[in-house]
Amino acid sequence: MERIRVVLGDITKIEADAIVNAANKTLLGGGGVDGAIHRAAGPELLKECIGLKGCETGQAKITKGYRLPAKYVIHTVGPVWRGGEHNEDMLLASCYRNSLQLAVENGIKTIAFPSISTGAYRFPVERAAKIAVSGIAGFLKEHSGIDTVIIVCFDKKTMEAYEKALDEVKKNPA
Ligand code: ADP
Repeated sequence: MERIRVVLGDITKIEADAIVNAANKTLLGGGGVDGAIHRAAGPELLKECIGLKGCETGQAKITKGYRLPAKYVIHTVGPVWRGGEHNEDMLLASCYRNSLQLAVENGIKTIAFPSISTGAYRFPVERAAKIAVSGIAGFLKEHSGIDTVIIVCFDKKTMEAYEKALDEVKKNPA
């Protein structure tokens, strides 16, 4: 659990081996954190993304980071919230697991996540935070290759939700 940190900030500024993008299925850029990452990385990122031919919800694909401080970007597609009965929880958990799996395969030791799906995709943030933190903690227990996971929150309400979820996982480790 000491390997998970929650911070307030802009993920495009984070100096980690990889940052994760909350992308859409086209992988061709969009609003929110996706737009910010493409702007900061520069046009070469879009060029590489075009070659990836999209990504399914819950899956993840990796590219270089180009002008970002991070060496890699891991693009994952979170579920759109449709009331909670459409496999949203499982798909969100898959985003974290598949992103971390790609990180391990690429020798990544530090990785930063945004709050996947809780912006334009409207996933309730408390629920998303629990899924994210327990998924990350479970993965880290099984994989020693990753040193640090930073959850980068863009606003205070989001940060509080992730801090609370992290406290709960610390109190009740699965
Ligand atoms: P999604 O479509 O998966 O919901 P969004 O980008 O709309 O993705 O929102 C996901 C989260 O990312 C939201 O909490 C949003 O405030 C946050 N966000 C937006 N820009 C940044 C940024 N530059 N760094 C970190 N988080 C960001």
